[in-house]
Formats: sequence, structure tokens, C-alpha cells
Amino acid sequence: MRRLVAGAAMAAVLGGSAACGISQQQEVQIGADQSQQINQQLPIVTDNAINRYLNILGDSIAHVTSRGDLNWHFYMVNTNEFNAFALPGGYVYINRGVAERSDAMDQFASVLAHEIGHVVLRHSVKQMEQMQGANLGVTVACVLTSVCNSGIAQAGINVAGAAVFAKFSRDDEAQADAAGVDELVRAGINPNGMPQMFEKLLAERQQAPSALETWFTDHPLEESRIQDTRDRISKINPAIIRTLTSNTQAFNDFRARVRSLPPPPAARRGTH
Ligand SMILES: [Zn+2]
Repeated sequence: MRRLVAGAAMAAVLGGSAACGISQQQEVQIGADQSQQINQQLPIVTDNAINRYLNILGDSIAHVTSRGDLNWHFYMVNTNEFNAFALPGGYVYINRGVAERSDAMDQFASVLAHEIGHVVLRHSVKQMEQMQGANLGVTVACVLTSVCNSGIAQAGINVAGAAVFAKFSRDDEAQADAAGVDELVRAGINPNGMPQMFEKLLAERQQAPSALETWFTDHPLEESRIQDTRDRISKINPAIIRTLTSNTQAFNDFRARVRSLPPPPAARRGTH
């Protein structure tokens, strides 16, 4: 029943022509609607200085991609868990715990670049296009039409979260890593921060697995991802790498301000 209704709603919103795919305008609308719901459900950091730096850094990476025309938005989620995710249309969320664990700007930027890579490669959009007509269509119909209120919308965003954030294939992850390396270099940032961050995560997983649980669920991380990113970086002229920025005082100030925030609210698994 729900599936039937969802399919009808979806067909109405998408003009009944699933074959045409989701346009950029629709993608941005989906992202804006999901973002509005997520911002009500997750503890978002509201500190102006933190958000200003986060958006300047994020924009500096996003605007050198093929989707620099999108209106990008970057939010920090106030939780120590290590994770990040992106919505369609250029809405990127990164947890406070990523900033707190980063030794330098290039490590933090590498996580942003990976998420930006998912948006540039339209991974969520492709999934939603495949979901049309499937049972998960209900969640997309919810966010597109606001036909579902309160309880159903709440369930919807959780299912959408699982579907949109957690089901990227290993191939998608590898593509986002590769795109991230290229984006970082174009933005003037040392891409070695990416394999460094992966190595830190693997090391920390052996010490305290629980804080990293969602990241590893969302982003399967094998040694191969570290090697693949190192291989990609090794193909870049070392003379170019030497010109790239690894850290800045602005990042150190940003991280200090993040660390000075009051402790995050009690952990809550709003998204997967
Ligand atoms: Zn990913």
C-alpha cells in the first residue's frame, strides 16, 4: 500500500518519466528538503567562526569541480563520532570528531573532498533513480512532496539516510576517493592528507572501535583504499605536490575553536 502510494507520488513529482532521470533542479530540491529535515534532527554546530571557516574551505574544494555551479552548503554535526555524509545537490555534513582528529588541514579537507566527490559523481542521485519504483521510493517521495508528516517523515528520513548514505558500493567509495585526490590538488591542498587520515582511522579502530563504527559502516575501508590513493598521488608530479598546502594557521584556529565548544549532546544515531 505504502509502496503503491509512494510510486504514484514519485511519478507525479518526477513527471511520470523515470527514464528521464533526476534533473539538477530536482536534485537540489531533494537535497534542500532533506537538509532542512536533517538540520532539525541532528545537533548542528551554530558557531559563526566555525561555520565560516568550514564553508570557505569546503567552497575552495567544491568550486574547482565540474559542479562548481551548485550552491554548496557545509555543516558541522556536533558529535565526536568520526563520520561525514553528503546529500544530493551539494549539502555536505562533517562531524566535529573529524576536525578534532585531524592533525592538519589537509587531513580534514580530504574528508570533505571525498564527500564532495560523491556529489560531483551524483552517487545518491543515481541510487535514487534506481530506487524509483522500488520500495525505497517512499522516502524520496516523502522528501520531495512533504506528503508524509511527523512520524512517517521521521521514519522516512531514517530510511533515506540508510539508503542514501550507507549503500554506496566499494566502487563508489573508490571513485569518491579518486575524485577527492584530484579535487584537493586542484584546490591547492596536499592530497597526502587522505591516506594519512585513513591510516589514523585504521589505527584508532584497533584502539576504540565504537567511535568509528558509523564511518566504517558507511565507508568500508580496507588497506586497498590507502594503497589506491597513494598510487594515484604517486602519479602526480612531485614538484607540484611540493607547492601544495598541508596546513594553515586558520585551520589550527578553527580546530582550537571546535575543541573549545561545550561537550556534544549525548550520542544519538539520527543518521546511519
Ligand atoms: Zn563515501
